Amino acid sequence: MENIRENVKRLLSEIPSYVEVVAAAKGRTVDEIAQAIDAGITIIGHNYLQEALLSIAHIGHTARWHFIGHLQKNKVKHSVPNFDMIETVDSLELAQQIEKHASNHNKIMDIFIEINSGREQQKSGVFPENAYKLIEEIKDLPHLKIMGLMTMGKITDDLQEIRECFRETKMLFDEIKAKNIPGVEMKHLSMGMSDSYKIAIEQGANMIRIGTMIFGLRP
Ligand SMILES: *Cc1c(COP(=O)(O)O)cnc(C)c1O
Repeated sequence: MENIRENVKRLLSEIPSYVEVVAAAKGRTVDEIAQAIDAGITIIGHNYLQEALLSIAHIGHTARWHFIGHLQKNKVKHSVPNFDMIETVDSLELAQQIEKHASNHNKIMDIFIEINSGREQQKSGVFPENAYKLIEEIKDLPHLKIMGLMTMGKITDDLQEIRECFRETKMLFDEIKAKNIPGVEMKHLSMGMSDSYKIAIEQGANMIRIGTMIFGLRP
């Protein structure tokens, strides 16, 4: 039995206070998620819509809910009213779908642009060099608000390669921020997981997504 409370306390005590933790809750029970919130977690991240909706129904908005998985277009309809943030927008089509449903709900949907910083062909996210074009295309959608960038980084054990992915994403974040694009707020930079959050913070992340280190190994 993992001690979720202790894990959360330890994690929160060792990171700078400006870094926000998204507890990545895929595969976790409502009870486990509630324990994490009780211990001080304020944001829950989820990859799977059905599972997330169940947890949200039980727990409600005592925490903020971030969608962090690959979002299929047919899942947008139910994601928009239930999530506070969609971290994984990587195409105009997806953005337009979100716009449509956010408009129906009279909601401004906060989103991050997902960056494929590892430049892995079959992975989700937009290549760094295409991020600016995507932002230009979607920045005027009235029910969407771009609030930052998210990246997974390369899936590898080579910490130097991971560091390079985070470094490049931070540079992109700073460049976009410096452009002061109306309606685009570069506030959050979401990168780093249990194995890489220290590198991510070193490279400028102010949001990290942590599953295993909080909840233990996935069942
Ligand atoms: C599962 C997941 C995480 C957390 O991974 P851990 O290695 O368990 O910390 C972070 N981001 C995304 C998108 C995930 O799916």
